[in-house]
Amino acid sequence: MTEEEKPRSSNFIRQIIADDLSRNKNNGRVHTRFPPEPNGYLHVGHAKSICLNFGLAAEHAGGQCNLRFDDTNPEKEKIEYIEAIKDDIHWLGFDWEDRLFYASDYFEQLYDYAVHLIREAKAYVDSLNLEEMREYRGTLTEPGRESPDRNRSIEENLDLFKRMRAGEFEAGQYVLRARIDMASPNINMRDPTIYRIKKTRHHRTGDSWNIYPMYDYTHCISDALEGITHSLCTLEFEDHRPLYDWFLDQLPVPCHPQQIEFARLNLNYTVTSKRKLNELVDEGHVRGWDDPRMPTIVGMRRRGYPPAAIRDFCERIGITKNDTVIDMSVLENCVREELDRTTCRVMAVINPLRVVITNFPEDQEELLDAPYHPNLPEMGSREVPFSHVIWIERDDFMEDPPKKFFRLAPGREVRLRYAYFITCEEVIKDDSTGEVVELRCSYDPQTRGGSAPDGRKVKGTIHWVSAAQALETEVRLYDRLFTVPEPGRLEDWRATLNPESVRIISGAMLEPGLLQAKAEESFQFERLGYFCVDAKDSKPDRPVFNRTVTLRDSWVKQNKSS
Ligand code: ATP
Ligand code: MG
Repeated sequence: MTEEEKPRSSNFIRQIIADDLSRNKNNGRVHTRFPPEPNGYLHVGHAKSICLNFGLAAEHAGGQCNLRFDDTNPEKEKIEYIEAIKDDIHWLGFDWEDRLFYASDYFEQLYDYAVHLIREAKAYVDSLNLEEMREYRGTLTEPGRESPDRNRSIEENLDLFKRMRAGEFEAGQYVLRARIDMASPNINMRDPTIYRIKKTRHHRTGDSWNIYPMYDYTHCISDALEGITHSLCTLEFEDHRPLYDWFLDQLPVPCHPQQIEFARLNLNYTVTSKRKLNELVDEGHVRGWDDPRMPTIVGMRRRGYPPAAIRDFCERIGITKNDTVIDMSVLENCVREELDRTTCRVMAVINPLRVVITNFPEDQEELLDAPYHPNLPEMGSREVPFSHVIWIERDDFMEDPPKKFFRLAPGREVRLRYAYFITCEEVIKDDSTGEVVELRCSYDPQTRGGSAPDGRKVKGTIHWVSAAQALETEVRLYDRLFTVPEPGRLEDWRATLNPESVRIISGAMLEPGLLQAKAEESFQFERLGYFCVDAKDSKPDRPVFNRTVTLRDSWVKQNKSS
């Protein structure tokens, strides 16, 4: 089933849009936007917002979705982030076409609208400092008090605001505030600041501004200027909606978009706050924003999560107004399902044990046909070499096995995947350590392809790699980044980082064809999981593999058995 054919379940936002369209509201237009602040890399929570905004536009004829950078905070913003965000959105499979905007494009218009508010006595220049403002603001139970500057004359406000812009004052000396209601039960409506002095160079407007508009003021106006119909944001903005509407009601803007809030995505065993992710990078807990353990889009990409799996995940978790924590296994299952139907199966041994096939000639090599996918013949097949010495997984042998162990043991016979039955005849150990270093086995030439002409059965099938041709390389095994389900709730969240979130295996043995694997290409290593070629650390003669996800959810198993 392709993605387009998958049934979409409705959600309350789809319902609102359907109702609006049936009433021909906005002349039947659907126009959304994704408004990131370029102060970090995008994470899986942003993916939810991207899929929602671009997805809603795509599912309506003529629907459009803008990409708008919310760049009103020059200290924290960087061009690097802008480029990364654009790449992420394209990689996820969405496109803003010619609708790339920046809030900073509207600085002049935002300034003019602020002047308009002053003229209407709806804004004033205030000289209270931060601490005084906080004190005057009141609390949830007590109303605020009016600033002594609240009734400054319009002329004086205009003059001061102009001089704020011209750089005559220092940061903190004055702010411009909306003049709304200091007694409002909604604290956001108690004369919020709309401009502050900031003598910081902006990555796009350079040194031309000494004042910068606040988010709440900028956001609604940017939406209106772009003709947005449905402005979707996360629940924490619910209390800001009256302010969103207030600004648009006061100003001669071209339209009045509808703000609709939905629950943000929280995933367990990780953090989805740009600030915390930034700290993980800065403090060296991970190897950068694209570390495969990070819930960033670049991290998930490097880990091997296909974009289709992330889109599917965002669709499955749905859009609601309830804040919940989604289990990481939901995302991992989407990744498994997608990789199951798209990747080639190959063989790799990550913890090798040497096996000598005593009755196979030392100087010979045989090629065996091995399909790339058990159920998808159209994926074709390759030939894998078989020879006198092979590697098997150390775990697939036990000297003294319990009853239910059906793999290799002294005197036991197992099937080598796509090859022959072998029987373990001798176990060679290191004299000093007692460690098993080699097995001597015989193979039955009659069982080529995996079945015996006499009808005898074997219970176990194991994977293997021929030693002479094996590609020896590095494989990285990842686990959850944190050891507790909700690290973000803890004061000392860093203390819950999982010390075993990555294990580097340097001597993994892979079937030789994998030398041709391309950067980011994904495979199923039979019985081990899905792996992809690390795009950064791989060399042409030595691809490095990241384990994307195991074949089954080992966490569920662990929890059940404990
Ligand atoms: P963070 O809380 O991680 O710092 P943010 O909200 O400050 O994120 P923005 O760049 O402002 O980051 O977000 C861009 C858009 O993505 C916003 O519309 C925001 O609501 C949405 N978004 C951010 N985090 C999530 C999330 N966890 N789930 C859903 N949407 C999100
Ligand atoms: Mg934000």
